[in-house]
Amino acid sequence: MKRRQPSARQLKDWDRRYLWHPFTQMQEWTQEDPLIIERGKGSYLIDTSGKRYLDGTSSIWVNLHGHRHPILDRAVKQQLNKIAHSTFLGLSNPPAIELARELIRIAPKGLSRVFYSDNGSTAVEIALKMAVQYWQQRRPEAGPKHTFLHLKLAYHGDTIGAVSVGNIHLFHSRFKPLLFPTLEAEPPYCYRCPLRLTYPSCAMACLEPIEEILKARHRELAGFVIEPLMQAAAGMVLQPPGYLKQIRELCTKYDVLLIADEVATGFGRTGTMFACDHDGVTPDLMAISKGLTGGYMPLAATLTTDEIYQGFLGTYEEFKTFFHGHSYTGNPLGCAVALANLTIFRQEKTLRRLSSKITLLARWLKPVAAMPHVGEIRQQGMMAGIELVRNKNTRESYPLNAKAGHRVASTARDKGLILRPIGNVLVLIPPLSTSTEELKKMVEIIRKSIDTLGET
Ligand SMILES: *Cc1c(COP(=O)(O)O)cnc(C)c1O
Repeated sequence: MKRRQPSARQLKDWDRRYLWHPFTQMQEWTQEDPLIIERGKGSYLIDTSGKRYLDGTSSIWVNLHGHRHPILDRAVKQQLNKIAHSTFLGLSNPPAIELARELIRIAPKGLSRVFYSDNGSTAVEIALKMAVQYWQQRRPEAGPKHTFLHLKLAYHGDTIGAVSVGNIHLFHSRFKPLLFPTLEAEPPYCYRCPLRLTYPSCAMACLEPIEEILKARHRELAGFVIEPLMQAAAGMVLQPPGYLKQIRELCTKYDVLLIADEVATGFGRTGTMFACDHDGVTPDLMAISKGLTGGYMPLAATLTTDEIYQGFLGTYEEFKTFFHGHSYTGNPLGCAVALANLTIFRQEKTLRRLSSKITLLARWLKPVAAMPHVGEIRQQGMMAGIELVRNKNTRESYPLNAKAGHRVASTARDKGLILRPIGNVLVLIPPLSTSTEELKKMVEIIRKSIDTLGET
């Protein structure tokens, strides 16, 4: 029996009546008309009335090659002809096996094992649990090493462990009673340098307090969790070149595992396959998710080294097993489309073709950076943060309740571009496949939308 399609009007009513949206004040949401996306094509999202919008967030940082890519569409359909899902507990499946092999091929050298899950937060949680159990089993003589160091403004997901190693006050402070204690260090937020220094004459002086923490506390530290190169949810806080390499060296020196959260930066977003590649760094554990399936299916993985993997081997009765898993671990549909995602990288030479777009994006953003209410633009590859300020000279921020970012994004939406700001930072993360014309149009809409901010 074929169900009758609900009308756009009904969908809007039902959305207001039955749904609770993430990171959303529902009291406001229910007073506005929800935008309901029915289809997509390339860089465009299409709503129930047929109106087209450029997808300036890559559907929250997941889409890489555009919507309805034929290779990705086909991969899902072909896998469906075989099986949608079978468990990974006690069984295996072809796409998950093949994908693991491909991931190890492209991952930073030295990462050799893949542990699947289904979202970025769990990929991080798995890295944390692996780190703690590793030290217990592989190096019991090291004593209890179960504390984590991370940067302030860090974001690693919304589950409790991921929130514990995060530090976004607005999102995280109320859950404090549930969180485990961690150590925090100042991030290299150069525009608002906590040391009031300027790069490069600062010689990355912010690394000194980090070394002090490592020196004093390394005996209890299991790992240093970091978003390599770009702290995205912090508002695109970009690390200076060489910063990550120094962090790697410090972690090695003090015997602390480096946990790279590449959930946002992975899969070409920063211009290289992984952000770690810019500094030639291999982390001990690496979390990936968002771009893994090209934005098609929820899938994640935690990659690690042979050294860590070996720490979990033993006889059954030793119980060194990693006791962790999810119902949808190694989901064949997700793995099949992730494999197809990597095929596109090879076939379309995605990374090679990206560099000219990245240069153009930088060129087009330059006049935006000169606008009176733009403090700074931080771009790395196809990720850009545009920090809006009330006063350009003093760098005074807009108060959060002025909703500056939100207002600009709302104007941009009227002009046909979907953006999702983080506080006062407008975030532009277009699909890697965005054409130069589309990219130019996105920047043009952003410029015009910021312009209206001055009038209000
Ligand atoms: C999005 C994100 C996460 C969380 O991923 P989910 O799939 O939303 O759970 C973790 N770390 C970083 C850096 C992210 O950007």
